[in-house]
Amino acid sequence: RSVMVCGGTGCTSSDSNTIIAALEQEISSHGIESQVEVVRTGCFGLCELGPVVIVYPEGIFYSRVEVKDIPALVEQHLLNGKPYDKKIYEKTRHGEEILSFEETDFYKKQVRIALRNCGTIDPEVIDEYIASDGYKALAQVLTTMSREQVIDTVKQSGLRGRGGGGFLTGLKWEFAAKQNKQQKYVICNADEGDPGAFMDRSILEGNPHSVIEAMAIAGYAIGANQGFIYVRAEYPIAVQRFTKALDQAREYGLLGDDIFGTGFTFNIDVRLGAGAFVCGEETALIHSIEGHRGMPTPKPPFPAVEGLWGMPTIINNVETLANIAQIILNGAEWYASIGTEKSKGTKVFALGGKVVNTGLVEVPMGITLREVIFEIGGGIPGGKKFKAVQTGGPSGGCLTEEHLDCTIDFDTLTSLGSMMGSGGMIIMDEDTCMVDVARFYLDFTRDESCGKCTPCRIGTKRLLEMLDKITDGKGTMEDLENLEQLSLQIKNASLCALGQTAPNPVLSTIKYFRDEYMAHITDSK
Ligand code: SF4
Repeated sequence: RSVMVCGGTGCTSSDSNTIIAALEQEISSHGIESQVEVVRTGCFGLCELGPVVIVYPEGIFYSRVEVKDIPALVEQHLLNGKPYDKKIYEKTRHGEEILSFEETDFYKKQVRIALRNCGTIDPEVIDEYIASDGYKALAQVLTTMSREQVIDTVKQSGLRGRGGGGFLTGLKWEFAAKQNKQQKYVICNADEGDPGAFMDRSILEGNPHSVIEAMAIAGYAIGANQGFIYVRAEYPIAVQRFTKALDQAREYGLLGDDIFGTGFTFNIDVRLGAGAFVCGEETALIHSIEGHRGMPTPKPPFPAVEGLWGMPTIINNVETLANIAQIILNGAEWYASIGTEKSKGTKVFALGGKVVNTGLVEVPMGITLREVIFEIGGGIPGGKKFKAVQTGGPSGGCLTEEHLDCTIDFDTLTSLGSMMGSGGMIIMDEDTCMVDVARFYLDFTRDESCGKCTPCRIGTKRLLEMLDKITDGKGTMEDLENLEQLSLQIKNASLCALGQTAPNPVLSTIKYFRDEYMAHITDSK
């Protein structure tokens, strides 16, 4: 048997390490350690119920496990084959029958490509990754494919950047490959900073080798021999597991010189970010790696042409890269068969706010908001009514009940005034004040503005002052008009995406919840 214990940040913070120690001790006290393996995995996704434990082969899911549950769990389930009733996740019960976790509403509509292996392998053991087809795609690429074939496969798959921009990944690689320069770079952007988003962290914690493998494939495709991962220092578990994975990959000859005896050389170094949201922007990230202050510069030149130290550089986010090996192994057509016409594959979302199943889910593009929030997410807790959902974090916008049957894809979300962003999905119930929501996000972007250009530096400050005035009950109709006008000016005049999208939460809440602004405004009564 295998007992999988979540070792992601969420469950670690609810003390899953103590659960692992107690399990090992109890198993050893019964002398069954040769029959039962305890594995510290990455995140299973259902963070709300942590610490979580899954026992295989049955797939029985135990939620909110405490140290005092361990003796009974070992005695009843591991020794006598009868699941320990008290902690079984209630949604797996169907009368007398107990379903495996994979058959629950939370899991059955998910398609796990980027989150593959998260929760099913020990991320600190390279052999486990290799046993699940790890580094097979790199071997295939290096021994049987030309650079053009690799780029073509990624292009044909339709994969678009998952960090927010949605640019075609294969096209980006092609731009860099065409540059006639000796030195090129691959950067993995792990500077995930949206409030509520943690998909990149979970991938690095649960399946770090998938990112290393993809970076090496990207390096081969564009002709780069050096990669960097830029990861925020607030992700200590992710940094530790990724660093360990790098050491193991070097030890196995999967990084370094002459990989698979093909003459291809590729190395990866880690750079820690200090937690500035703006450093998720490509040019700011490059400046930060170069040792300068992380501030954006105008594009063009695009990094694929002139990036790190002036050399062609591709920057892909963690989730984007986590799809690459599967695309190579299963083919572009397979990947392109998932999703919609212009948004292929899957997207990982971090469900948060007023939803029953907070956690991490990976769904095919084209699924509806209703399916994600009510079927997978389990709906709104406490019998409350759904009010709105914010997609795209502080750069996105809120959507309402009338949008619940809209599909989730890049173009639909943008056409509704929101965006895919990196994948935060915060749900609000009937008790939420939408003016407060706009204020919360704007406070964040005002704080994170790097200060380089006036519309963003001063504009977000002024917007926040107006919102404060309105929420204090001192606002007027003129303030509301100014709020809208200034929002549009900031969008049009800011240098980078942070400023260009900062007013989105304000504009979308004014568009869909104008009555709530009016309720705060004195001269509208
Ligand atoms: Fe900096 Fe904001 Fe200007 Fe971007 S828009 S460069 S974050 S001040």
